[in-house]
Amino acid sequence: MPENKVNTLITDSPQEAARILLRGGLVIFPTETVYGIGASAFHHSACKRIYDVKKRPMDNPLILHVENITSLRVCALVETEGDLVFQKFSPGPITGIFPKHNQDLFTAGLKTVAVRIPSNPTAREFLEACGVPVAAPSANLSGKPSLTKLEYILEEFSGKVDCILQGEEPRIGIESTVIDFTEDPPVLLRPGFVDQKDLFSVLPNLRILNTLDEIAESPRSPGLKYRHYAPSCKVVLADSLQSAPQSVAQIGFTFFLNSIYQVRVSSNEEYMKFLYSFFVECDRRKIAEAWCEIPKEGRGREALLNRISKAVAK
Ligand code: AMP
Ligand code: MG
Repeated sequence: MPENKVNTLITDSPQEAARILLRGGLVIFPTETVYGIGASAFHHSACKRIYDVKKRPMDNPLILHVENITSLRVCALVETEGDLVFQKFSPGPITGIFPKHNQDLFTAGLKTVAVRIPSNPTAREFLEACGVPVAAPSANLSGKPSLTKLEYILEEFSGKVDCILQGEEPRIGIESTVIDFTEDPPVLLRPGFVDQKDLFSVLPNLRILNTLDEIAESPRSPGLKYRHYAPSCKVVLADSLQSAPQSVAQIGFTFFLNSIYQVRVSSNEEYMKFLYSFFVECDRRKIAEAWCEIPKEGRGREALLNRISKAVAK
């Protein structure tokens, strides 16, 4: 069925974007992780439209975005461990799954709710102006890399959503860390910028799912079973780029040959920031194969390995 084209307002006013959302519209906004495509979590038909626009499977629930811990408590039943984590890492790139507190919220039929408090200043102004929880998955077509630049958002979503809010671009570049607090002990479902070491400092008994298969089989987070974050081309995780042929795109720390497209990073932080734009560029340039150098030890390694492995396995 052909999609209906809509007028997309591009604005840098969080208040104007909030008015559109409160009338039932879809608004794309930047967060510190990646861009989100948002609807009021009380407006179920708008939330369902997100699935159409993204071509997202209906069993993959959405993360609610709120402006502060008070609003978090309106959505979710937060107990001691969740409270400790949110006091320490929020606002920021961390999502908690909790029992749902307000039955009117859209949660794709689940009794639990995933919530986060972003730190991006544009997102914060927008959420404050909305005054309602905003259900927002990453703004990308389902299965494709999340988008981290306004340029890509305009290309992919103009004519499909009601508003695109311009503001501070994502700094982190990969999606939030997700922790399930409905389990005892809590379980790390998706690694992100906030890593195991950070989390062990407040949650010493945090359970880690180790392999992609273990994650995919987990019934806890329906979206984790999907192999995604991938460009169309073949993706290779390489110990070194030393034997990479000239015909492949490369992202990593050390290059040995000039190739058709290379992105050099100097830290895992930069790697996280540029991984998805590297993938998007591989698609745009119709590149057949992309090599990703194994990330360094330390912050970002688990999160990068998770995203790259998913792209390799697609
Ligand atoms: P995205 O917003 O695209 O980064 O994806 C949201 C992620 O959070 C997906 O992996 C979802 O499956 C997961 N998620 C959202 N809500 C819940 C929930 N209530 N229970 C478990 N996982 C959730
Ligand atoms: Mg996503």
